[in-house]
Amino acid sequence: AKKAGRNNVAAFIPAMLEELNKQVQLEAQLRDAMRTGLIEPYYQPFMDLGTRKLAGFEALARWKTAEGRFIPPCDFIPVAEDAGRIVELTEQLFRRACKDAMSWPSDTILSFNVSPTQLSDRLLGLRLLKIMGEVGLPVQRLEIEITESALIQDAAVAKEVLEDLTKAGIRIALDDFGTGYSSLSQLSNYQFQKIKIDRSFIQTFETSEKQDKVVRAMVALGHGLGVQVTAEGIEEPSQLQYLQELCCDLGQGYLLGRPQPNDEAIHFISSSIDV
Ligand code: C2E
Ligand code: CA
Ligand code: CA
Ligand code: CA
Repeated sequence: AKKAGRNNVAAFIPAMLEELNKQVQLEAQLRDAMRTGLIEPYYQPFMDLGTRKLAGFEALARWKTAEGRFIPPCDFIPVAEDAGRIVELTEQLFRRACKDAMSWPSDTILSFNVSPTQLSDRLLGLRLLKIMGEVGLPVQRLEIEITESALIQDAAVAKEVLEDLTKAGIRIALDDFGTGYSSLSQLSNYQFQKIKIDRSFIQTFETSEKQDKVVRAMVALGHGLGVQVTAEGIEEPSQLQYLQELCCDLGQGYLLGRPQPNDEAIHFISSSIDV
């Protein structure tokens, strides 16, 4: 058994080195991509399900390599965090998103994701406000999306950071609602203006009576607390109709619009398709 154990360790080392190498390479590529502006926000619309009008766009980061391949944010955001570049990347994306939002109608909200680690940055509010001030985007136009894991990591600091954002007049949305551990206690501990029901619920309620009850309860919970409710991941007309019947406030998903570069987002606005 001892011998086998030693062999396992010996076999593990090359794999570990290879992993480390890949990480170093990816970090170098990320640095280049940030420098040359290859990482850009795309914009996915969200619609008011009552008025059937565009309510805003969520900025979603896209890294398009020189070869035209897309690296998804779930692959490069963690690299930016590990490399200590997430603050810089966020500021770069945020500045660009604020500028782009200036080209939209003045009632169109910009929704922007921050990663969990950023809620332990006491200067987050100041950083965002500084950029908005420089670009000229009013705070009422901005909404910050956070996930529950952000609130668990460093709860005391996260609370302060969120309070700062709220005091500054920035709206906060709780993303991926229903997938974390402690959604319900988070709702009373923090001040949110919106919850976003995770798409896993939207895409299964039709085939599961229990899931259907859960979605109804989440909409009712949001309304009971006086916050707006968004349904994510709407792909089918039947899902849209159901959510409209439930009086869910807002909807987002491929059926309503895909993440797109700003020139297409502007075209989307002017074509003003009702849902
Ligand atoms: P998220 O905030 O929950 O964003 C929604 C994800 O679902 C996006 O994936 C979007 O493209 C996708 N989506 C939208 N509608 C549909 C639909 O109808 N069906 C399906 N199957 N998917 C849909 P994406 O762009 O790959 O982003 C993944 C995650 O990466 C985001 O999840 C967010 O947590 C994170 N992320 C994206 N951009 C940023 C960023 O700039 N900063 C930070 N910190 N995180 C980001
Ligand atoms: Ca989001
Ligand atoms: Ca989400
Ligand atoms: Ca997510």
